[in-house]
Amino acid sequence: MYVIAFIIGAIVGSFLNVCISRIPRGESIIRPPSHCVTCATPLSWYENIPIFSYLFLRGKCRHCGTSISVRYLLVEIFAALGAVGTWIRFGPGTEGLIAFVFFSTLLVVSVIDFEHHIIPHIITLPGIPFFLVGGVLFMGVKLTDALIGLAAGISILYLVAVYYEAITGIEGMGGGDVNLIGMITAFFGWQSLPVVLFFAAFIGACCGLIFILAKGRTLKEAIPFGPFLSLGAIIYLFSGREILGFFLTT
Ligand SMILES: [Zn+2]
Repeated sequence: MYVIAFIIGAIVGSFLNVCISRIPRGESIIRPPSHCVTCATPLSWYENIPIFSYLFLRGKCRHCGTSISVRYLLVEIFAALGAVGTWIRFGPGTEGLIAFVFFSTLLVVSVIDFEHHIIPHIITLPGIPFFLVGGVLFMGVKLTDALIGLAAGISILYLVAVYYEAITGIEGMGGGDVNLIGMITAFFGWQSLPVVLFFAAFIGACCGLIFILAKGRTLKEAIPFGPFLSLGAIIYLFSGREILGFFLTT
């Protein structure tokens, strides 16, 4: 069964790659069909098999020999693992499906933010009502918890962004991050906010420190925060109940 989830996840990952490449450029994600970005040759079916084709073609276009970013392979692998993980945790029903759609959305947002330093509103703005309703209807989140989560998440990150900019003079966080945390806490409910922010800030700070030490740079170069918020959300997705249970019982 998990093999099926892995294959479905990899196929979805292939579509997520299309979204990641085209949404920041404002292109349609349906047309044209997959093609090499350098020589524009359309891919035949055997060049379009998730994970396998990348390995088989050794990461190069068969026509022009241009290297294809390893990101395509990584996104397909992460999506496949996400499908297996959500299947194990939430089962193959609606709950698991919503959890996997949420995981996939975070994956797309993270990679776009990593590559372009933007979080497209075209993903997060429809994502807020979609995941709010999905969480309430299928994940057992109370409507009031979801609405408070949305308001609290957006307010807190907005304040952090304003103060950060006032103190450092650097625009560290954009409106994209604010919408993203709103989408996350609307889906989980307000209880998730401290957990998600803790892991995002902690892992983000560790990576920032490694980045500074390794490259000898200062934090003047803004590090995209979206991937860390997403990581915090994914940790909460898989182990939020346990983390909250641990703190509420001790
Ligand atoms: Zn090519």
